[in-house]
Amino acid sequence: TFDYAPAPESRSVVDLKSSYGLFIDGEFVDSRGGTPFKTISPATEEVLAEVSEASQEDVDRAVAAARTAFRSWSRLSGADRGKYLFRIARIMQERAREFAVLESLDNGKPIKESRDVDVPIAAAHFFYHAGWADKLAYASLGDNPRPHGVVGQVIPWNFPLLMLSWKIAPALATGNTVVLKPAETTPLTALLFAEVCQQADLPPGVVNIITGAGPTGQALVGHEGVDKVAFTGSTAVGKAIARTIAGTRKKATLELGGKAANIVFDDSPVDQAVEGIVTGIFFNQGHVCCAGSRLLVQESIAEEVEAKLKARLATLRVGDPLDKNTDIGAINSRAQLDRITELAQVGEDEGAVRWAPECELPANGFWFRPTIFTGVSQTHRIAQEEIFGPVLSVLTFRTPGEAVAKANNTPYGLSAGIWTEKGSRILWMADQLKAGVVWANTFNKFDPASPFGGYKESGYGREGGRHGLSAYVTTGATR
Ligand code: NAD
Repeated sequence: TFDYAPAPESRSVVDLKSSYGLFIDGEFVDSRGGTPFKTISPATEEVLAEVSEASQEDVDRAVAAARTAFRSWSRLSGADRGKYLFRIARIMQERAREFAVLESLDNGKPIKESRDVDVPIAAAHFFYHAGWADKLAYASLGDNPRPHGVVGQVIPWNFPLLMLSWKIAPALATGNTVVLKPAETTPLTALLFAEVCQQADLPPGVVNIITGAGPTGQALVGHEGVDKVAFTGSTAVGKAIARTIAGTRKKATLELGGKAANIVFDDSPVDQAVEGIVTGIFFNQGHVCCAGSRLLVQESIAEEVEAKLKARLATLRVGDPLDKNTDIGAINSRAQLDRITELAQVGEDEGAVRWAPECELPANGFWFRPTIFTGVSQTHRIAQEEIFGPVLSVLTFRTPGEAVAKANNTPYGLSAGIWTEKGSRILWMADQLKAGVVWANTFNKFDPASPFGGYKESGYGREGGRHGLSAYVTTGATR
């Protein structure tokens, strides 16, 4: 029980339409021949809206609009492009509550996360890249960085608005134009963002949002009018896209899956580490590419950490995403719930010990209790495969060398966390870990100035910082 229970966030702040068109050339238009689909609330299974499916003809129209817009957008001064990005960022802030509620409705994530993380960081990406637009010459991108042209962008459902901002802000700052496809289970905040583009008077065709599932994404990335592909999603689809564009002139960045190790040494501040472990894997229901889904804990403190972790998990509140007290919201889709359920069963079958706190789950919707597996060995599938849900696999180690070997022993290399009081160990570990991002005594911290991306099957390219800008320009040309 809580002494203070703020009222749930009100869904009435969102002006939900019953159906949505595609955003092409600055207008919402009907699809030509696509089959509309429904997006539902994963917390209640109620239909939120009907959304258009972009057909091949719609993809053609969107790419053509982006190509036409590219002629003038790429010639606009950096300062003028920056003004549009600033305007977009300001409108996103003004409409932050609408974005947060809509994101929680469509995705299932707790409102305190969409309100305090997704929306503010998305706006921050536009502010950050607005600042770069007239300073590209100072970004170490070569003497005369040139935009590629039309960028085809495909994003996943775990951070719909945030992934959109990671994609659109740097593309626009560098003078490219965009056709973006959000994930089929979370299209609504991208469509609200299209309204923001209209409100900001962004020239028509600079940003186009087309909705649909895998086939629409495939039509977009394979389109001959697309010069660069930017994809965030699963490693399996990333590989399919790499095959689709092999042999073409297209540039590509692929941000894929992860299986991060959160490594806790016996000299770490244990209570702080336990909070970091909880944030690392249970934030956003574990639907996080860089989630700390493997806990590597030093053997001497394993029992203590496990006990504290269980006590902490028992306090987490699972339920209504719009309730401001909720810690763990709904799993985004039935398909994802099935996948998590299946892999958790595999964990049990392989002999790991499963534990989850007792807690009531809502009758409708897709839910999964925060779960930990102890007694996990490196060969277990739950130690190797991305579960993408609120499931933690606990392994132990004795020496720093063993921790590094185990941490690096997956096909992925996106992120890692280290918990220790020893600075020299942090530096040594960070150097040894095959991970694009390494956090020390914290986890899941993001900043638009900091490049993010993976090693190995976590993909290639970086997003954020000046490294992220470089993916959107042809560098090194001299005047
Ligand atoms: P997914 O790969 O199933 O889908 C991602 C997007 O690709 C969706 O929009 C989907 O419609 C589209 N798509 C599907 N098939 C396609 C095809 N053949 N061609 C083109 N597009 C296609 O991934 P998901 O389930 O939406 O997202 C979860 C995955 O995303 C996880 O693996 C997660 O780790 C990864 N992810 C990575 C990062 C990162 O920055 N590295 C960030 C967030 C999520």
